Amino acid sequence: MSTTLHDSTKTLSLNTGAQIPQVGLGTWQSKDNDAYKSVLAALKAGYKHIDTAAIYRNEDQVGQAIKDSGVPREEIFVTTKLWSTQHHEPAKALDESLQRLGLDYVDLYLIHWPARLDTNYIKDGDILSVPTKADGSRAVDVTNWNFIKTWELMQELPKTGKTKAIGVSNFSINNLKDLLASPGNKLTPAANQVEIHPLLPQNELINFCKSKKIMIEAYSPLGSTDAPLLKEPTILKIAKKNNVQPGHVVISWHAQRGYVVLPKSVNPDRIETNRKIFTLSNEDFEAINNISKEKGEKRVVNPNWSPFEAFK
Ligand code: NDP
Repeated sequence: MSTTLHDSTKTLSLNTGAQIPQVGLGTWQSKDNDAYKSVLAALKAGYKHIDTAAIYRNEDQVGQAIKDSGVPREEIFVTTKLWSTQHHEPAKALDESLQRLGLDYVDLYLIHWPARLDTNYIKDGDILSVPTKADGSRAVDVTNWNFIKTWELMQELPKTGKTKAIGVSNFSINNLKDLLASPGNKLTPAANQVEIHPLLPQNELINFCKSKKIMIEAYSPLGSTDAPLLKEPTILKIAKKNNVQPGHVVISWHAQRGYVVLPKSVNPDRIETNRKIFTLSNEDFEAINNISKEKGEKRVVNPNWSPFEAFK
């Protein structure tokens, strides 16, 4: 059987009214020149959406590639994220990100994690680090701060024009409920970027966000480092049957579920592959939905350091 692949050019609507391209390039672990080259390759291949973060330490390279691509700034959707050591100063952190990116604004600015890391534990003044305590655990500040306070400060940012929208990442349903119910809440987050893939379908969280008009963005969509999901027997079988690559199958499954998907690659061929999708048959779509039911759910990025329910 031969299947027609097409470039993903679809955009989805944010609750701000802005459009967000459904498939974006992830850049976590894309370092130095690889980050530069991958963003350049993606923009040349037609991507219009790049996801970075202050803690990825590649905003300079990402910004340079955007500039060198020749693609007009207003055609590209750029997301960056507030690192956990700067929850008390998002305006300053955003300025620093814009400086590194060499941009006047980003399209989306996210709270990277719903927990503040204690700046008292920072070593060598390195604000973009993961401060740890003597026992090696992350220095999470649960006494002096919470993400409700961060959100109150974040809400001031769209007015400055330095970000078009604000949102969150790694927020659970309870985190979102707390945020939305807080007295100082004036804006619903435009997006919640969370781990989603066939071994962690997150149906409940997706439905909750949909009901609140919060766009879901799937990170680690291939299972993260080395794309383990592309070796899943069900995925391989569907790829063979449709005469496409396993990457096409997994990205198409995400796209068909109706949210934003952010595959990362530094390999130009894979960057191209990851933007090509096709329509899965009901049977194939269901077979992928069943992977986590048969094998059990598996999370790749460990959120244990983040006190998800600490503010209840
Ligand atoms: P992905 O699920 O995107 O997988 C990336 C891995 O898959 C890399 O090792 C990459 O290798 C490989 N790969 C990519 N495409 C293919 C392909 N077609 N065939 C075979 N291998 C492939 O993982 P990430 O964890 O990077 O998640 C994606 C993005 O989501 C991040 O880059 C980041 O932007 C965001 N993210 C956000 C988080 C958050 O807390 N908000 C946490 C984690 C990620 P290679 O590069 O060599 O091609």
